[in-house]
Amino acid sequence: MSTQRLINTFIDYVSVGSESGNEREFCEALEKDLIDIGFQVERSEMGHLCQSNGFNIHGYLPGEGESILLCCHMDTVKPGCGIKPIEENGIIRSEGDTILGADDKSGIAEITEAVRRLKESNTPHRPIEIMFTLCEEVGLLGSKFADYSNVKSKNALVLDGEEIGEIVNTAAANIVMSFHFFGKAAHAGICPENGIHALKAAARAVDNIPVGHVDDISVMNVSNFLSPGATNIVAPRADFNMEFRSYDEGRVQQHIKTAIEAIEEACNRYGATYTCESERHSEAFSVDPDSQFIKDIFSAYERIGVTPYLEKTLGGCDASNLATHGINAVNIGTGMRDVHTTSEYIKVDDMEKSVCFLYELLKI
Ligand SMILES: [Zn+2]
Repeated sequence: MSTQRLINTFIDYVSVGSESGNEREFCEALEKDLIDIGFQVERSEMGHLCQSNGFNIHGYLPGEGESILLCCHMDTVKPGCGIKPIEENGIIRSEGDTILGADDKSGIAEITEAVRRLKESNTPHRPIEIMFTLCEEVGLLGSKFADYSNVKSKNALVLDGEEIGEIVNTAAANIVMSFHFFGKAAHAGICPENGIHALKAAARAVDNIPVGHVDDISVMNVSNFLSPGATNIVAPRADFNMEFRSYDEGRVQQHIKTAIEAIEEACNRYGATYTCESERHSEAFSVDPDSQFIKDIFSAYERIGVTPYLEKTLGGCDASNLATHGINAVNIGTGMRDVHTTSEYIKVDDMEKSVCFLYELLKI
């Protein structure tokens, strides 16, 4: 029966290891599956852009009405080689020495099963687009470097969360910055007054920069404080990194300004100088709760007896990169649990619910 096929597919998928950067074997197996199901499949050989031997997979299955993009990542965290999945009492877990890989292969197995059922029952469905990505776990790289030129859908479901019924429709902007402080070396015993203490300047800045929940929708953090050197030298160099996350881009910019003011004050005090670089990891996005897309998702869950709810996250996921390319993307749960640990598991019931939800959403 089809639940058994879902279990078998999931077990097949997780049995082919695909730690970030080493996804190719799994990409090839999955590509073959999608072709068997009837998808038009296109490889996007962009692995070199994220130090991976794999490729992104784009798939398209014609249908009627408005298309929808389904997105999952194919990579896993470590230890993800030699996974031996065990099914017991309706729960699938690993033998305990590896992760399971339900993050995110549960989403992939649920998609392929839902589409197989639609096709077998000759049920009319929407056009279905697929984007399966590399290297999500190491900075959302597969979706960052994906080819969006042929994406037809306005709306996308990213299946990469835990709870069935959870719909993340709001996510934070995330900017990471590196700060480098420059002073002047001098002998700390003989002529310390000739030096400029970069470490003291950096330490004062760090002390004056707020961290944690800096307002109701933003968090900040300082990390990687470094100033290696000998005890008899006035430290000429110090560095630290920062991260800024907020649901509002304006707040991110405001908090960056606050940090830079603290850094400039500290540099002025000690006579040090600084440089900085910043890298954007994600943009803030929010899909309108009153949009037809969200209403369709709610109604599909309700039809299978699941109570859906909206959620927001300060974390990142592929949906952030899709949103950057103008796609209305939400992240939903697949049933995966305790991810990124060797206790990771998933309930077959939850996977089955997710398949039924997808079937309801995709059929017309
Ligand atoms: Zn994931």
